[in-house]
Amino acid sequence: MKPEPADCPICHAAAERTRQRGGRGFKYSCPTCGTYEVTSALLGCGARPPASAREDLARLRAYGYKPRVEFHARDGIRIGPSRSGGA
Ligand SMILES: [Zn+2]
Repeated sequence: MKPEPADCPICHAAAERTRQRGGRGFKYSCPTCGTYEVTSALLGCGARPPASAREDLARLRAYGYKPRVEFHARDGIRIGPSRSGGA
């Protein structure tokens, strides 16, 4: 899939995203936040990412995880390591 221009859902900078296979969401590449995955449910959920989102992404990456931003109807936005494996 080709990357397409998109606003970063975390910091709203001009970023790029690539649709992931299997309809699991998108992979974003942001000049500020780096590379991370986003579930389809997050986009259009209207919820604001927590102020700590960028730090959470950086911390996960520092520990060698691929960060993933998810939206859960009950818990809201959660940031954790991707389960799709690889780095
Ligand atoms: Zn960003």
